[in-house]
Amino acid sequence: MTSHLHVTPIGDRVDHDTSTTEPGCACGPEVKSVTQDDGSIGWLLVHHSLDGREQGKG
Ligand SMILES: [Zn+2]
Repeated sequence: MTSHLHVTPIGDRVDHDTSTTEPGCACGPEVKSVTQDDGSIGWLLVHHSLDGREQGKG
């Protein structure tokens, strides 16, 4: 069975859509595949902060 894990910025001012296994959130999550301990493949959906902390401008 494939698992999905959402990683969201802590304390972000916007709500992220973590209810889906698709990267459908407005922040455009980055999808990474990870091999789990049991050898199965899991998906890591890494959300980006939308409060501008990563851009440093704008
Ligand atoms: Zn998001």
